[in-house]
Amino acid sequence: MNRACARPACGHAAAATFVYDYQARTTWLDPLARERHPMAYDLCVAHADALTVPQGWRLVDRRGGAGLGGALAS
Ligand SMILES: [Zn+2]
Repeated sequence: MNRACARPACGHAAAATFVYDYQARTTWLDPLARERHPMAYDLCVAHADALTVPQGWRLVDRRGGAGLGGALAS
């Protein structure tokens, strides 16, 4: 898994993947997907954090914070 940020002239390693749904006017920001998907776009951390959506759209950040995986188990 070695993918780069989709933003032009960025070139940093991708750390997140986002998908969007025009019908729902929603964008979902997820941890980097295992596999590339034609409807998904990869972003580095900086661009993921800076991601904005058009007016009237909803941005759902599902990344859950750095290193949170499994933290709820305790
Ligand atoms: Zn980037």
